[in-house]
Amino acid sequence: MECTYCGRPVEDHDPLYLSAEAGGTPTAQFCNYGCLSAHVDAEDLTTGAACEWSPE
Ligand SMILES: [Zn+2]
Repeated sequence: MECTYCGRPVEDHDPLYLSAEAGGTPTAQFCNYGCLSAHVDAEDLTTGAACEWSPE
């Protein structure tokens, strides 16, 4: 599989997988923690709307 962030084959590195639910099908994969961290920063996942939702 290709790294979600940089597109290189994750098997060449020390891959990390993300899934929406524990034990679920991976929705994203990364070469290493560096790519995961860079992806999170690039997508603004740590400060994004997910933490700021308000009930309607
Ligand atoms: Zn990568």
